[in-house]
Amino acid sequence: MRAEQLILGIPDYPAPGIIFRDIMPLLADGPALRATVDALIAPFLGTFDVIAGLEARGFLLASAAAYSTGVGLLPIRKAGKLPRPAASVGYELEYGVAEVEAHNDVPAGSRVLLIDDVLATGGTLEAARELLELLGYTVSGTAVLFEIDGMGGRAVVADPHLHTVFTSG
Ligand code: 5GP
Repeated sequence: MRAEQLILGIPDYPAPGIIFRDIMPLLADGPALRATVDALIAPFLGTFDVIAGLEARGFLLASAAAYSTGVGLLPIRKAGKLPRPAASVGYELEYGVAEVEAHNDVPAGSRVLLIDDVLATGGTLEAARELLELLGYTVSGTAVLFEIDGMGGRAVVADPHLHTVFTSG
């Protein structure tokens, strides 16, 4: 897909030795954005009632996917940004810890498609998946735009229905 060429590998960002996958040029291209969002959700059509997206770039893809399929959007935020009491799940980063949080604004038992932009170590996505289960939802699938191969993320995300559109390597 032409969209893959629009994901740039930026060396030494945010730290030396890291290649950051920059999806902004893909977002800026209308046909590539539409093709990518379509490819993200294609395996899951008819299996979800709502789409959850991870802050911040996951929001962009999830909201486009929610609009295109006519379902609601459940934003999963980084800690400390939600105005009402929220469910929270912590996870470990390379240096330190982080938390993801969400409100239970859709009914318990809803089937949720979880979307993010990049899968690296898998910690963020797995915490988000656990958060959705904690809120009483069923994760019907997990869809990611770009999987960085060789970082073990696929093994960390406990979802047999993990779908990634592009993979490095
Ligand atoms: P993980 O928890 O899998 O190590 O990291 C994934 C999370 O960090 C995702 O929410 C993603 O947005 C962000 N992330 C990690 N590496 C990259 C990268 O190279 N490019 C982009 N765009 N996001 C990244």
